[in-house]
Amino acid sequence: MLLSLRDTVKFYGLAAEKSLGQNFLLDEEIVGSIVEKSLKTQSRKDFHDCNIIEVGPGPGGLTRMILKNSPKSLTVVEMDERCVRIMQDLKQETDCPFNIINGDALEFEEKNIAAPRQIISNLPYNISVPLLLKWLAKIAEFEALTLMFQKEVAERITAPRCCKDYGRVSVIAQLTCQIDELLDLSPQCFTPAPKVWSRVLLFRPLKNPVNAQEIAKISQITALAFGQRRKMLRQSLKSLPDIIAKLESLGIPPTARAEELTPQQFLELSRLY
Ligand code: SAM
Repeated sequence: MLLSLRDTVKFYGLAAEKSLGQNFLLDEEIVGSIVEKSLKTQSRKDFHDCNIIEVGPGPGGLTRMILKNSPKSLTVVEMDERCVRIMQDLKQETDCPFNIINGDALEFEEKNIAAPRQIISNLPYNISVPLLLKWLAKIAEFEALTLMFQKEVAERITAPRCCKDYGRVSVIAQLTCQIDELLDLSPQCFTPAPKVWSRVLLFRPLKNPVNAQEIAKISQITALAFGQRRKMLRQSLKSLPDIIAKLESLGIPPTARAEELTPQQFLELSRLY
């Protein structure tokens, strides 16, 4: 018999571990609305034709909701052995093909799971950006990513040019995906309550997303440009050969600052290198 989420946490003695970014969602209504909004925005009824990967299932709130929506298969990737035990017991309660990986999501090779695949996760906030960048670099492998971030990080991802939050991750995310904001959650929705608000974003690959090689180049250029964001590009990018001529050939004044360039302009610049 399936215990309630709160009883699951008590039964398995799952005290939240800060080093693993653990803030649990134990309210079924809230977890339900994350999955529901993701499905609705994708114009889907359920996940019957899609293999789902959940990173960091924890006590399994989101996991249960994914299972209710009939995925073709579910793979969970979890570092914490206590949560892995919870997943092993949950697996007994479902007919859905269910893989449990006890390991680091940063190392996990998603291609091992058959396509079409989607990732759904209330991310461990301490590694949310490295995980996102890993997935964006191979975005064509995914049908969609439904991810919860600390709200400030979500704002950086969707920030338009000339905004103070606009930076490297905004450029890469906006060059690879259509991004929808699904919902905001207050700290009180979590156990224990974090200090910050959270936001769920849905990422869907653009028709012709930039490839991994191009992203690697854009990543280097944006790291230089935003690493010294107050400086003019002719200064912050001076280590790149012929930078002034190349900026001018694209109609970008060398006196512009990083935040003034659109994601497309960063792409065009990277293609000259
Ligand atoms: N999905 C659960 C929920 O919404 O209640 C838990 C979310 S909690 C914010 C993040 C989860 O990611 C935790 O279960 C934590 O143990 C797990 N985690 C942390 N670092 C991880 C890593 N590198 N690889 C896989 N899982 C990780």
